[in-house]
Order: sequence, then structure tokens, then C-alpha cells
Amino acid sequence: MMRKQRIALVMAMLLACAMLLGSCGCKHEWAEATCTTPKTCTECGETEGEALGHTEGEATIDVDGFALKATSIVKCTNCDAVLSKEEQDVDTLLDGKYMLCSAQEYSDRLIDAIGQIPDCTLGVELIEQNGQPMCMVYNASETLVGAISFYDIEGDPIAYADKDVQSCFVIAVAYVPAGSADAATDLTHISIAMIMAAEPKMTVVDASYLVIDLVSEPIIVRDGVEYELDLTSDPDGYYCLICPEAINA
Ligand SMILES: [Zn+2]
Ligand SMILES: [Zn+2]
Repeated sequence: MMRKQRIALVMAMLLACAMLLGSCGCKHEWAEATCTTPKTCTECGETEGEALGHTEGEATIDVDGFALKATSIVKCTNCDAVLSKEEQDVDTLLDGKYMLCSAQEYSDRLIDAIGQIPDCTLGVELIEQNGQPMCMVYNASETLVGAISFYDIEGDPIAYADKDVQSCFVIAVAYVPAGSADAATDLTHISIAMIMAAEPKMTVVDASYLVIDLVSEPIIVRDGVEYELDLTSDPDGYYCLICPEAINA
């Protein structure tokens, strides 16, 4: 090899090594360090210092009020990356003064509960009435035998637009007209279904015993939930009411 050629080769090799080592000679364009990458030159890829690392935020709890799963999620306060996720079964829907499910989820749970009650032929439909979500319950002959409405913490009916908002409903009320032929059966079935929808631990048998107790003792409080069966105050019909005890305290 000619001497000149060798010198040129060595120079080129040194330059190649220098580039690999980051002394590219370019005017660095620095992108600030992020959670996962250090300060980096956008031109040559040279880095300086270290990645910042994630900053753990407060855990937020996301509850599925139908499937009764609570997911605790911790995110980075800087970049929103999910740092940890933990799923747990929910054994009560009660969260202080609120029920941890939306009107829509309660309505879906009600349909699910009705499916578990033997010989129960009630049908459920969540509709908009006067701008509010109403859970209409019909018997086998399509007669309206119950209407469940949902209220907020102030005791005002919630808006239909908020039917999917969790932690908003606090009181579920069913009303069975006294005139309907199967009033006793309908009231029993609605009451059992409403109890099961509100209280995940309750089986059909548990809820049936609770309704039997309510017939002789109209207001019963269990695990922070108040159950009320009113068979006397309205000559035109009967009420079943379920709400967190804290509402009436
Ligand atoms: Zn550079
Ligand atoms: Zn981060």
C-alpha cells in the first residue's frame, strides 16, 4: 500500500471511530430528556446524562359496576405510562354515600338478577323520561309494574346524559301499582332483583329471606345499605326502596 493511501485510510478510520464516539462535529440539536430516554441529539443520536425515570402518581380505582371488578391503576404523572395495574373483585357496591355503579350498570345488573330468579318473567328497559334515566319493569303481560329512578347525592334525579356516570345514583325505587293482578308476585320479584342488583353478595335465597323480613319490619339496614318495603302508605301501590344508609342518616 502506498504511504499516502495508508494515511488517508488511517484518517478515515479515525474519523469513523470519532463519529461512533459521538464527536461528530455536528452542531448538536438537543431533545430534552424524558422518562425513558436521556437528553439526545436529534442529529447524531449522542446522549448526555440519564433518562429521568417515571414519577409514580396516586392510584386511581376504576370500577366495573356490572362485572364487579375494581382495577387499581398507577400512572406516571409526566408521561401517563401505566406503571402498575391490579384487578380485584368487588364485594360491595357501596362507597360511602354512593353506589359504585351507574344507572346503566344497575339496570344491566337488574336484568342479570331477574335471570337468576326462578319463574320470574319480568322485563327491564332503561329509557329516558323527562330527561332522566328510568328503569321500566314490565310483567309477562307487558304491564308496567315497576319504575326505578335514580337520584344524586342531593336527592335530585340524575340526568339521562349521566346514565353511564358511576358513583352518581344513590337511591333506587320501584313502584308496583296495587291494581295489577300479580302485584304480590311482581313486587316480590322486583324487590329480590333490586336487592341482588344493589348487593353483590346476595343470592336469590338471601334476598328472598330479606324480603320476608321486610314484610314484618319495613326498614332494615345491612352492611350500610338501607332496604325499605312500603305496603301501606299509598293505597294505589307499593314501594320498594334501596339506598345507602348514609343518605338518610
Ligand atoms: Zn449531534
Ligand atoms: Zn413517565
